[in-house]
Amino acid sequence: MRRAILSAAVLLLSAGAALAQQDPGPPETSAGKPLFTFRSALWVNLHHFLYVLGRACNGTPDSRRAAVNAPADTQGFEALTPKERQTWEHAIAYYRSDVSPKDAVFDHGLVAMTNAIAAAGDSPSLAGVDIPASLRAVLEASTPVYRKVWWERHAQSNRARIEELQSLLARYGKPISDMLTHVYQQSWPPEGLTVQMCAYANWAGAYSTEGRLIVMASAYDGISKSEGLETVFHEAMHQWDDSMIPRLRDRAQRLNVEIPRDLFHALIFYTVGYATASVVPATTRMPTRSGRVACRGVRNWTNTGCGICAVKGLSTALSNA
Ligand SMILES: [Zn+2]
Repeated sequence: MRRAILSAAVLLLSAGAALAQQDPGPPETSAGKPLFTFRSALWVNLHHFLYVLGRACNGTPDSRRAAVNAPADTQGFEALTPKERQTWEHAIAYYRSDVSPKDAVFDHGLVAMTNAIAAAGDSPSLAGVDIPASLRAVLEASTPVYRKVWWERHAQSNRARIEELQSLLARYGKPISDMLTHVYQQSWPPEGLTVQMCAYANWAGAYSTEGRLIVMASAYDGISKSEGLETVFHEAMHQWDDSMIPRLRDRAQRLNVEIPRDLFHALIFYTVGYATASVVPATTRMPTRSGRVACRGVRNWTNTGCGICAVKGLSTALSNA
């Protein structure tokens, strides 16, 4: 009997070892650094929270998206004193007029400020950070209010999403990374990419822009689980835009084919959707944005015809060339 128990234990141990062996570990760059490093920092969280609240106050159409339902995030607000409320309202009013009308991805000035704020991490103040004095004053004044009501909850949500992503990356990230770099014939920056995890990001729930800035929203369940895995690679692939878009345009010109304005974006959706779906088992996958869903999304964004269909057309043209 004792022998049988021992054999069962050995069997279980070897099964565990086999499972551990199947896990290839997180994806790395050519320099052996982690491809993704996640941060959850105070200033950049406060900045994005005020940014989406300012857009909601301005009634911009994108502020009605599920990823930016920040006005409903009021738990604990009643604990604020009248003075604290006044400080908070002043901060939102400032963002509403000076920051939120700008696009988080394409406005160079705002992107530079966001990069500077992100670099400040959790510093006690924003001294020496290259942002307008008025913005610094608003952020520093509203921080105690943010800490009192939201920060602990937002940081907890960030930590949970980072943990979930790291576990998915350890299991599935390497083959996805290998597939993407192979298909695109591109490599990741040797030092890796930093992802700023914030409760809120922008209407899309995640974005990637100049200065290697990548932001993801942890308060948005639409990019949790396998969708989060797909999203982090989607945003990382945008860092190849500057080298890939000219290559695509050049190739299309030589083939004498018309390409829709947003073909490159459709290629990202399609490729990373395909890579994720081929690695993550169907039973643990969220409904993916690739295929028909992305097809509808791309058509809505571009008004230039369906990007996915254009991808297929170009692939055919390329394979026949
Ligand atoms: Zn994108």
